[in-house]
Amino acid sequence: SATIDVPKLKMLDDREMPAIALGTYLGFDKGGAVTSKDKQLRNVVMEAIDLGYRHFDTAAIYNTEGEVGEAIRLKIDEGVIKREDVFLTTKLWNTHHKREQVAVAMKETLNKTGLDYVDLFLMHWPIALNEDYSHSNTDYLETWRAMEEMVKLGYTKSIGLSNFNKLQVATVLQECTIKPVALQIEVHPQIIQEDLISYAKDEGIIVMGYSPFGSLVKRFGMDFPGPKMDDPVLTSLAQKYEKTPAQIVLRWLVDRNVVPIPKTVSPKRLLENINIFDFKLKEEEIEKINQFNSNTRYTLPSFWQTHPFYPFDIVPDPIPDPFRSQIKS
Ligand code: NDP
Repeated sequence: SATIDVPKLKMLDDREMPAIALGTYLGFDKGGAVTSKDKQLRNVVMEAIDLGYRHFDTAAIYNTEGEVGEAIRLKIDEGVIKREDVFLTTKLWNTHHKREQVAVAMKETLNKTGLDYVDLFLMHWPIALNEDYSHSNTDYLETWRAMEEMVKLGYTKSIGLSNFNKLQVATVLQECTIKPVALQIEVHPQIIQEDLISYAKDEGIIVMGYSPFGSLVKRFGMDFPGPKMDDPVLTSLAQKYEKTPAQIVLRWLVDRNVVPIPKTVSPKRLLENINIFDFKLKEEEIEKINQFNSNTRYTLPSFWQTHPFYPFDIVPDPIPDPFRSQIKS
């Protein structure tokens, strides 16, 4: 089958990042992060590699590092790719922000993936937590220094941030010895992130956009307000370019220099989501999609908003902390 050639973006440290990543977060239930049955995710990642995906996004908290790593190793063994042809992004969880914990978490990640190094290690949140999920005031600058050590030791090629606000990114830039190459944030038509994206661009930091489909798809099994697949703005662009509304939204991200991270476990949608590099939106078409902006976040952990490093705007009615209630019960 035909392989799609994914372009790459040059990062601050002169390494290159493939312009789309496959998301591998499968959701959350009472027992924690959901894992796949019968190696479904491993098989999806292997199929993705055959289709041309060269970038995978996982995290310690997703419980998917093992299956993603296994898929990469099997494809290397099959001779389909070499290790340097794939880019693996993973993330440090909030309970491992102390200097000595970062090295422990990093090694655990490498053990799970079965790889010698990852390409990009992100601080998942600026928020440090203790083992029992109570708030810790460990500064993200301490965590960053420990992550810089991980680069020096060769465990990760690059390091970056996720869910940091502008001031927090600026603080890291001011104090770091190794600059963050990437910032992973929520970006979709309902939260277009103009300010943070233009700031990151000025600093040479690549933005990775999570939950790229926004309201187009069901979230937590529910419909949310905002454009759907049959929205006329999206369907007319889809018609014009002979693409689907999902592809139009992914291309909108690519054309804004954002690396989209669509998640799918469907072989059909795997191909659909990567087949976006043979057309380009016009400036006024990008602008039209920008009009959907309502600054709506699906990832809004308001239960952390009393934390000193909570990155988002404070909301009046924070939801209860699912992690802590899980620990207590
Ligand atoms: P997405 O916007 O990727 O939406 C995923 C949903 O869309 C799934 O239900 C999927 O179903 C469906 N879908 C995928 N492709 C299509 C398509 N072409 N047409 C119709 N439906 C489609 O959101 P996520 O929240 O899953 O985010 C993606 C990734 O971003 C995560 O997997 C994770 O890697 C990362 N992320 C990072 C966060 C962070 O804090 N840094 C937070 C949240 C996400 P199906 O599988 O059945 O196709």
